[in-house]
Amino acid sequence: MQKNRKKAAAFLTAAVLTAGAAGVMPAAPVSAQIKTALYEGEAEACTVTAGGEVTTKVYQDEYPGYSGDGFVWAGNSGGVSFEVDMKEGGMCELRSRCRMYLGSKGDTRTQTVFADGSKVLTAEVPNMGEWYDFSFGSFYLDAGKHKIEIGGQGSYYFVLYDTVSFGYAKMPDLRIEPVPADRQATPQTIALMQYLTSVYGKQILSGQQEIYGGGHDGNYEYEFDYIKDTTGKLPAVRGFDLMNYNPLYGWDDNSTERIIEWVNERGGIATVCCHWNVPKDFDGYTLGEPVDWQACSYKNYQDSGSTFNTANVIKEGTKERALFDEMVRMIAEQFSRMQEAGVPVIFRPLHEAQGNYHRFGDSGTAWFWWGDRGPEVFKELWKLLYTELTETYGIHNLIWELNLYELENSMEWYPGAEYVDIIAYDKYEGSPTRWGKDPATSVFLTLVGYSDDTKMVSIAECDSIPDAVRMKNEGAWWLYVCPWYDTYLTDAQYNAKDFLKEFYTSDLVTTLDELPADLYGSGETPPDSQTKGSETTTEPTQSTERLVRGDVDVNGTVQIADAVMLARYLAEDSKVVVSAEGRFNAELDGQEGLTSNDLVELLIMLAGS
Ligand code: CA
Repeated sequence: MQKNRKKAAAFLTAAVLTAGAAGVMPAAPVSAQIKTALYEGEAEACTVTAGGEVTTKVYQDEYPGYSGDGFVWAGNSGGVSFEVDMKEGGMCELRSRCRMYLGSKGDTRTQTVFADGSKVLTAEVPNMGEWYDFSFGSFYLDAGKHKIEIGGQGSYYFVLYDTVSFGYAKMPDLRIEPVPADRQATPQTIALMQYLTSVYGKQILSGQQEIYGGGHDGNYEYEFDYIKDTTGKLPAVRGFDLMNYNPLYGWDDNSTERIIEWVNERGGIATVCCHWNVPKDFDGYTLGEPVDWQACSYKNYQDSGSTFNTANVIKEGTKERALFDEMVRMIAEQFSRMQEAGVPVIFRPLHEAQGNYHRFGDSGTAWFWWGDRGPEVFKELWKLLYTELTETYGIHNLIWELNLYELENSMEWYPGAEYVDIIAYDKYEGSPTRWGKDPATSVFLTLVGYSDDTKMVSIAECDSIPDAVRMKNEGAWWLYVCPWYDTYLTDAQYNAKDFLKEFYTSDLVTTLDELPADLYGSGETPPDSQTKGSETTTEPTQSTERLVRGDVDVNGTVQIADAVMLARYLAEDSKVVVSAEGRFNAELDGQEGLTSNDLVELLIMLAGS
């Protein structure tokens, strides 16, 4: 959470108005291909709406390369329409072979898509200098007959339609390997990862951030009592903030005890972020000295005026590095306590790093110090934190969650698949979209696309919770949804009480009481996690095998066949495919990466059994 969000939102609006086309565009949504066509044909064979025209040239200009008898020129108010009959509801994809001829390459014209007279999409059709296959995107339709129309509102002229195709969209599979990035993850962490991947795409986990420090006069249950009173339920995921364990003004607000209690006594899932502070007068700061919290800031140096230079953290021997090392040591101490108690957590450090960075052309900054020197420094910082916690401190109870945004430059902030388990989006109203109950499906698909559908995605923070049925209908299966504390949860403009009750009691939403009793592994297979409702058609996708050291072929036992398979894999025999689980099981020598040493360990295991 960025404390000055309202201010930021106002700035955003103003900046959007003034920056205009200079802004960084949202990343192109992962174009859901058409899975099953419901309509395919020449545009000129569709109904051409008023203002549109079937032609082979515009004024004197010929546009060869079309198919059929010609193309439809959208004209000043027209377009094409056609009807479809859908046997069942689902996400649909609309495409057209089209051409925008105004201006130069990269210029765009806005076109709109209507279903039964209601606007469902707007799309920027770019000038590509040729005919090409354009996706307008995807949207949900119920079963039944529908009239689909392109055009009729937006910026007209200059768009030519050759063919049109429409059908059920091919949605991502959401089959995630149930293996944490940390190859030395504790059994409880592996069990949690297995559970999360087993529900992902079938259920949405309810979540809630608790207030930290002395908020609500120290009543950490405020949000949870509110949810219980309103819905009769409690969230499956609870968000914590470890900001108060720090070398500057640190004080123990018992977050660690609450995390352990939440997981071990109440059976919930914990997620942790950290608003780490640095001294504003870093030049005048002496390492080891206390600093009043009011003389600290987690904001970027541009806002806070801090002389702390984040770029120096990744250089050994600097004062910044020394302070960072101490921060890491202190948080490692807390994670170590959790690890000893058998408690894994979803850890979302260095959150919202991109902020507004270059959201408006070259302008816009990260809003926290960990992002204020740009993506290259941030990625090194993330890797440093990862390596320090896992290798120096032996912390292996973390599922690593990274915040990303939906901008076309957001992937510059991705440190790499081997450091990340979950990609998270922090969804707030007005920055810059007002989502309401919309599931933000375009953002979901964009984030899924970042990892080519190999990482789960979540809403790690929000105000307005999306509608669960719309999440299911549109396939926007956010792993969990976690409102920020206080009014972000309770304000009726975000989450009216009736809505909150509907969400918490939905068959699509998992609450605390519905988590399996053996969530953290009793040695038995994870629970069957099919959707409680009957509507879904999603197949169960995850292996329910327990991970077994040495089980390279993942058949549940360790045999000589595993050693043979590993030997062939190491010899780069292209006929041998070892799954991610198998590769994880084969990591036996304590060093990351599979080598002949792992094979030796496996042979020793077999000899001893
Ligand atoms: Ca045509």
